[in-house]
Amino acid sequence: MPEIRVDDALPVPLPDPVRAALVAPMVDHHCHGVRRDDLSRSEFETLITEAGTPAPPGTTHFDTPAGMAIRRWCAPALDLEPHVSPAVYLSRRAELGAAEVNRRLLRKAGIAAFLVDTGLDRPELLSAAEMGRTGGAAADEVVRLEQIEQEVATAGLSAVGYVKALRDELAVRAARAVGLKSIAAYRCGLGFDPSRPSRGAVIASAGRRLSDPKERLTDPVLVRHLLWAAVDVARERSLPLQFHCGYGDADLDLHRSDPSLLTGFIRAVAPSGMPVVLLHCYPFHRQAAYLAAVFPHVYVDVGLALTYTAAGSAAVLREMLELVPFHKQMFSSDCYGVAELCLLGAVYHRRGLARVLADRIAEGEWSAADAARIAHMIGSGNARRVYRL
Ligand SMILES: [Zn+2]
Repeated sequence: MPEIRVDDALPVPLPDPVRAALVAPMVDHHCHGVRRDDLSRSEFETLITEAGTPAPPGTTHFDTPAGMAIRRWCAPALDLEPHVSPAVYLSRRAELGAAEVNRRLLRKAGIAAFLVDTGLDRPELLSAAEMGRTGGAAADEVVRLEQIEQEVATAGLSAVGYVKALRDELAVRAARAVGLKSIAAYRCGLGFDPSRPSRGAVIASAGRRLSDPKERLTDPVLVRHLLWAAVDVARERSLPLQFHCGYGDADLDLHRSDPSLLTGFIRAVAPSGMPVVLLHCYPFHRQAAYLAAVFPHVYVDVGLALTYTAAGSAAVLREMLELVPFHKQMFSSDCYGVAELCLLGAVYHRRGLARVLADRIAEGEWSAADAARIAHMIGSGNARRVYRL
């Protein structure tokens, strides 16, 4: 078993305190479970892209920024040379087995705590506790509002019963979570009317919803109702509410996921004090940085944008850091399905931030002590504060 080191990926020389802050264990404040089973090549390829479909005949998803990055940064964790072919990589992966691969890659990412979105709870995915055990880290749960709603909608209740059960179930699930998450961007888009819907409108919409409860929730009135019910719970329990923004899979209409569409809702919930956490945001990360700069309760990350832009990701991080207050940005890998995505998220966060910090220090803009403090805030301090870890 090779020694697990997180600092061999830093691309530039840095003063010791900055280096130490960059390699320190981070809080991954948004991720999903990885698969516990061994994967075929086509299953693996589908999990290293948000496309959800095979690459065109005769091509491979390894010919993407993330695919190249797996060969570069994950191969050494499996005792291979950097840049080995996909076939060699996958054959070594199969030889080691999923449990050992997950253990090596998650540990090499250098994570102190995983905050796991459990909205896609499938038996083949590691649970939050298993992610923690496998990765040698703490683990907590972030509950997905739309999943709770789906369970309540299919429980065979009346419209009035649905409204009450939704509130009760949210309270129960929130009691053991460190945060709530919405994928409204996937359902009605983020440009919804920000006001709390009336009870009459909710009951009428619920009646229609319950006539076909297996369908996914898309009715904007019920999405708004769900969000405002979440605000009530979040305020009671001092929980933040995460929103998926920007980059996602082919289910998403990208233009409806621009976080600036949430401005009215952000304003409306400001009196509650509930932190609003904008996830991923790419290619709207500049809009997100602006929102974090002007609203005291807004936080941001670039999440999987770093993994999927890979060798180009320092530019994305640099754009986020143009404006974002440093006490507002967090790290997440948004890994899902394969542990490679967790390691890549961590590698590119550290590499990109190292470059930006080295430039600021070299230009005499920031002291090394400030650079170290900022790396610490973004890597773990902000998340510990906001999620009260
Ligand atoms: Zn995610």
